Amino acid sequence: MRRKLAAGNWKMNGLLADLGQLDRIMAACPAPGVDLLICLPATLIHTASGRSASHPLQVGAQDCHRASAGAHTGDIAAAQLADAGATAVILGHSERRADHHEDSATVRAKAEAAQAAGLIGVICVGETLAERDAGATLDVIGAQLDASVPDSATGDNTVIAYEPVWAIGTGRIATTDQIAEVHGFIRARLIARFGAATGQAFRLLYGGSVKPDNAAQIFAVPEVDGALVGGASLTAEDFCPIIAALDAS
Ligand code: PEP
Repeated sequence: MRRKLAAGNWKMNGLLADLGQLDRIMAACPAPGVDLLICLPATLIHTASGRSASHPLQVGAQDCHRASAGAHTGDIAAAQLADAGATAVILGHSERRADHHEDSATVRAKAEAAQAAGLIGVICVGETLAERDAGATLDVIGAQLDASVPDSATGDNTVIAYEPVWAIGTGRIATTDQIAEVHGFIRARLIARFGAATGQAFRLLYGGSVKPDNAAQIFAVPEVDGALVGGASLTAEDFCPIIAALDAS
């Protein structure tokens, strides 16, 4: 049985003063059936993990380097994130694939580094609008999945997030049919590669403009185990109803 997961991605937003929202999320969103993860800017991870120490909410990061240490100015190793209190890290988000030219081989190496440091890797895949319009969605997702997910991945150390690039931060969401098609495809691909038991154990998140008013319909889609939420995870006011909708699904 897969535990549901509500994961927030604060992206490059938030100062120490904004951790009050994290306190509000912990206080105001009781959801016993849902695992909670908030992926913060690296600057906030240590403080946030201290503040959430007595709450089931987990703190995550948004990227790590593929190497365990070394001469990589400005980068952060997975072990350093774990040392700061992170338990998970987003890998291969489309903003990193686009802004930092990260390809799937890089994402895979980062996922291996995350595993070595004991972090759960939240590996993102998703097609652009041009790829969808060209009818290439499943080819793109399949190729990203095969190349980004390491052979050592299991349901315990890896979460997959399907995030259509055209739906991230745009207010435009995939239809439930589109989500069902891609999530069903990802599940089948994972089972074909890892076998039934392991393939069934990966949690599959949908991400892309998930909001309080569309969350329930998304969580009703088969093979959706939760969401990766950007903008709406920044405040308890928006994130709590999404968590509640997942708990009720
Ligand atoms: C994201 O950051 O992964 C995301 C899905 O953002 P938003 O919810 O704002 O579209």
